[in-house]
Amino acid sequence: MSDTLTLTEAQIHALAFDFLRFHGLAADQAQAMAQVLTQAQRDGGLSHGLQRLPGTLDTMSHPAFNRDAVPVITQVTPAVNCADAGFGFSILASMSGLDPLIDSARKLGLAMLAVNNGFHSTALWPVVERIAEQGLVGLSMNPTRDWVAPAGGTRPVLGTNPIAFAWPRPGRAPYVFDFATTAASRADIALHRQQGKPVPEGWGLDAEGRDTTDPAAVLAGAMLPFGGHKGSAIATMIELLSGPFIGDRTSAASARFDQGHDAAPCHGELILALDPALLASPDDIAAAEATLDAITDQGARLPGARRHAIRAQNLRDGIPVDRALYDRIRGMMKS
Ligand code: NDP
Repeated sequence: MSDTLTLTEAQIHALAFDFLRFHGLAADQAQAMAQVLTQAQRDGGLSHGLQRLPGTLDTMSHPAFNRDAVPVITQVTPAVNCADAGFGFSILASMSGLDPLIDSARKLGLAMLAVNNGFHSTALWPVVERIAEQGLVGLSMNPTRDWVAPAGGTRPVLGTNPIAFAWPRPGRAPYVFDFATTAASRADIALHRQQGKPVPEGWGLDAEGRDTTDPAAVLAGAMLPFGGHKGSAIATMIELLSGPFIGDRTSAASARFDQGHDAAPCHGELILALDPALLASPDDIAAAEATLDAITDQGARLPGARRHAIRAQNLRDGIPVDRALYDRIRGMMKS
């Protein structure tokens, strides 16, 4: 028997939605979470696809988690909208706040959405890509949990702090990048530990703040940002802008909030939408296209291109799903 099933987008969505509903999540919450997990699975982002589904139960069992949370959207100024996730999953609040954000950006040229009090474990690209599909530039970032020491430091204080950016392209898929600001993901370090392999130098520190290549010591000590002091500064900017700036938790406060429940981190998310029509002339847009073409013309690839190619292939041939994972999810839906 093959280790992989091939499913349609609708079948994956139904599996995720039914799982979340079975475990008591309100329909709107389940729809938003099922949607983003399906998009990740469809695009080959397996770390943020169906694999995340069993872990949603840890998040939903956090005492503060609200299975029935209905996001509350408020306009603070014409350019600033807030979406209070009400201690449900962040993704419903982000998606609910996108139309007001896009409206504001179209009217004013630029606008922000502050998402507060949401449990967040999803990939960031679905939100910025949706903004770019509307012809706007999207930028999103959030803190996570204090697993990361600053460059030159010894103790964790920053989160893995992902950032995603999308630039709309006339007649083409948007330019999109989306990554954490650490040298490597926590999952990758855990995989090295599982395989008994050392991690490269520069990935982390042990509990005493010393450089180490022992993955177990890094997981017990501190991860490091990518790119030395440069990544450290970008991770710090994300910490400030999507934490204190929007009146929400830092990565350290998010970790304290967890109280050992192993839930997804609960924190804020900053989403910006910028309208290229504000200042850019058609010649400027052409210059942007020429820049992106100058990257690909020399054999380099654009971020997002691999994912978009996998999407096209999976929509044509079906979306692979690990059979053991599928069986596990089904097995968790038996009363
Ligand atoms: P990676 O280090 O794998 O980087 C992924 C990004 O880099 C993608 O945009 C990818 O494009 C692009 N890329 C990769 N290789 C190349 C290349 N050779 N040339 C050009 N572009 C390239 O990502 P991470 O492991 O740091 O993050 C993975 C996911 O985890 C993200 O979606 C992120 O949002 C999510 N995450 C979420 C967190 C949260 O708090 N919710 C916390 C941390 C991470 P492509 O997709 O086309 O390959």
